[in-house]
Amino acid sequence: MSIPASLPLRNDLKGEEPYGAPQLDVPVCLNVNENPYPPAPDVVDTIAERVRQIAPTLNRYPDREHMALRRAFSDYLAKESDTRLDPEQIWAANGSNEIMLQLFQAFGGPGRKALGFAPTYSMYPEYARDTFTQWVTVPRNEDFTLDVDAAIAAINEVRPAMVLVTSPNNPTGTPLPMDQTKRLLAACEQASVDGADEGVHPILVVDEAYVEFRTPGVPSAVTLIDEHPNLAVSRTMSKAFAYAGARVGYIAADRGIVDAMRIVRMPYHLSAVTQAAALAALEHTDEQLSTVAHLRETREATAAWLKGLTYKGRPLTVAHSESNFVYFGLFDDRDFIFNELLRRGVLIRDVGPDGWLRVCMGTDEEMATFRAAFAEVLALAE
Ligand code: PMP
Repeated sequence: MSIPASLPLRNDLKGEEPYGAPQLDVPVCLNVNENPYPPAPDVVDTIAERVRQIAPTLNRYPDREHMALRRAFSDYLAKESDTRLDPEQIWAANGSNEIMLQLFQAFGGPGRKALGFAPTYSMYPEYARDTFTQWVTVPRNEDFTLDVDAAIAAINEVRPAMVLVTSPNNPTGTPLPMDQTKRLLAACEQASVDGADEGVHPILVVDEAYVEFRTPGVPSAVTLIDEHPNLAVSRTMSKAFAYAGARVGYIAADRGIVDAMRIVRMPYHLSAVTQAAALAALEHTDEQLSTVAHLRETREATAAWLKGLTYKGRPLTVAHSESNFVYFGLFDDRDFIFNELLRRGVLIRDVGPDGWLRVCMGTDEEMATFRAAFAEVLALAE
């Protein structure tokens, strides 16, 4: 980083680093929770064809409201979450990162607070910083489940404009059971917002970036949208859908929340190329999701394998995960484990509370390499 002192950088950004996991050229990358399986050749053909079809129109701006894509997400959610929403209850952007930023722009801001439950996704404080929103956290239980009573007490005490809960949570993989989502929603619907008029209540944002990896049959928070105008459920094509490179996230929410986001979005924020590529992949939904069941099995097998291992004579602790990654510890020196794995060509993530590491599920081959490398590193650490 070299930002000359002569530049009028915002005071609160001085000394800050750009966010991001290392992008290293190593054989096995298990660090950013991608789906390791690339699109199949027929999906690639459809993507190329759909982009070719719109290429002659690229002199024009894209559909600002991206209605075709919103209709396609409505169809997707009807199938995936058994809930039919109007396209006006859906909104897409460049990754759920941009969705979240738009939420903070619309509902956060100076004098406003956002409440989250630590440890959780490390971008949330950055959206807060960038929108001058105060970020407040309540600690999760020791097993990373939510302390719902503490959460509700904080909602009433802090009086945030936004309550953010990630399900399954990143980096821990912890799901939020439906009865707890309902309790949080009820608390938000009763609570007031610091600095806002009477009768204004916090919104509850459920970040379901990894939800397709949950146990089949478990309902998503999307099923609650019709009855709850203060609920927003964020989703992405980056994880289970195996489309991180396309940068497409979306939200399902009451149309009031969507309309608020439309105020702060950049004009034509979603390029015609992105819209065409997203629609192409959605045409192949079953194929794009065909690896999810296997990745779930890989997660279960990896968690069971890790549970059988010891570090310095102590069994490893493995957090219950409903996602495509596993969070495990506790290491006296997690940097040592991380760096020794890296030396063996395996990149994982050192994120969240000290002592814990996160590994994302790769292909069978990648997981075999991870296991061999990790066994070696554990032996070294003894
Ligand atoms: N939410 C959570 C919990 C995440 O882990 C991530 C990505 N790591 C995102 C949102 C953002 O993903 P994207 O912008 O690719 O949709």
